[in-house]
Amino acid sequence: MQRFQYYIDGEFLDGEARFQSIDPATGDVWADMPEARESDVDRAVNAAEKALYDGPWAKTTATQRGKLLYKLADLVAANAQKLAELETRDTGKIIRETSAQIAYVADYYRYYAGLADKIEGSYLPIDKPDMDVWLRREPIGVVAMMVPWNSQLFLSAVKIGPALAAGCTMVVKASEDGPAPLLEFARLVHEAGFPAGVVNIITGFGPSCGAALGRHPKVVHIAFTGGPETARHVVRNSAENLASTSLELGGKSPFIVFADADLESAANAQVAGIFAATGQSCVAGSRLIVERSVKDAFLSIIKRKAEAIRIGSPLEMATEVGPLATKRQQDHVAALVDKSVQSGARLVTGGQKLDGDGYYFQPTILDCDGVTSPSLAEEFFGPVLSVVSFETEAEALKLANDTRYGLASGVFTQNLTRAHRLMKGIRAGVVWVNTYRAVSPIAPFGGFRLSGQGREGGLAAALDYTRTKTIWLRTSDDPIPDPFVMR
Ligand code: NAD
Repeated sequence: MQRFQYYIDGEFLDGEARFQSIDPATGDVWADMPEARESDVDRAVNAAEKALYDGPWAKTTATQRGKLLYKLADLVAANAQKLAELETRDTGKIIRETSAQIAYVADYYRYYAGLADKIEGSYLPIDKPDMDVWLRREPIGVVAMMVPWNSQLFLSAVKIGPALAAGCTMVVKASEDGPAPLLEFARLVHEAGFPAGVVNIITGFGPSCGAALGRHPKVVHIAFTGGPETARHVVRNSAENLASTSLELGGKSPFIVFADADLESAANAQVAGIFAATGQSCVAGSRLIVERSVKDAFLSIIKRKAEAIRIGSPLEMATEVGPLATKRQQDHVAALVDKSVQSGARLVTGGQKLDGDGYYFQPTILDCDGVTSPSLAEEFFGPVLSVVSFETEAEALKLANDTRYGLASGVFTQNLTRAHRLMKGIRAGVVWVNTYRAVSPIAPFGGFRLSGQGREGGLAAALDYTRTKTIWLRTSDDPIPDPFVMR
């Protein structure tokens, strides 16, 4: 059994308690993990605060921070395969996806490495004589970061990269479901040479570790990715110290296909959009909204593609869909499919757990036309697509916006003016036109409403990890007159 440690104040430690991690492809225990509780969280936050104000990090220039980030990026690239195998083993995300994604994670660190010495303050043309006024950008402070199990190296990179570029220190909480890749990543942070306490990486359970971290009085900002229900706890805890929050939450993203679209191409994007990562993707295009005249044709293409998907061991390069990350998740998906079928949704394909070991679930398509199916409103976070059809563009837009979420969306059409109308009309943080699931360190990402607030990626994300200080300097050598002497 592999044994992992966490990383606090530059040291690798066993933790207050231990828990076991399960391989979702087999259902067997495969690794032994450290579990942080309140005193470990306290230790990690104190280390981060000490590093911020008293350690060498406080004197590190922005250019040096950039160099450390470049080194970290190179180490991530060099160790991508090892990290990918650990993530695949611990979460069941297929190796084909983890290896490509982690190689790209290195580019996120490179982007923020380059940005570190471009975070500038400003000089203000103040309306008073003999006075210089500047805005100084400082690191916001100690940041708490919490991530869910899927894509932990990616979801932490979009927080750690900009926070380090801005000069912050941090405590990162890996998910209790599959923490191995992030705990291993701590070794690369160490090797890159970041001073002790700048990046601390722990894991533990939400109500004990996560909650203790979120309400710690020295935490000034919380960067959270996870579900809306957990986000409510996070926001309540943040209220204790009035810490700011950025929230990247779930989605029920619409995928709109018009009759004039290239149906084969749209079908490839739809199948990847819902079944990649076994559907455990915040941007999963989980609501197909298809023009009625092509509904049958489109459904028959995606049904054929869904049924041809190779399901298997996530460690095999040929596998296209692996297991769900946990038994809890597999049960949730199965229960929601059953509830949807009872409400009148028709199974086009799939709908069942796979027999045998591991937490597998068939790629599933539910035809929900004419029914009020819970599958249209609730996030599965699994390989289930719900389908409805429309006659007019206005109807398509209404269906797309008929959700409390607002993370991502896709529009497939050859009609340019229609694409522009929908880009403006869709209420979601990302609109992909004739493509789906594209991301980049250069492009901001984030949601509306129940999908969260704040943006990750791009320059603005680094600025969000800074606070401004206004500095006034009087440039006159004349004495300041006594204000109580009448002139
Ligand atoms: P989750 O909300 O259960 O857990 C996320 C993290 O929060 C975990 O590390 C967990 O331990 C921690 N946590 C739990 N309770 C806490 C508390 N009281 N205080 C602080 N932290 C606490 O999420 P999950 O079920 O692991 O992941 C699935 C969810 O994440 C889905 O809703 C999915 O859409 C969302 N997600 C969003 C994005 C995005 O970028 N928008 C990306 C991936 C996943």
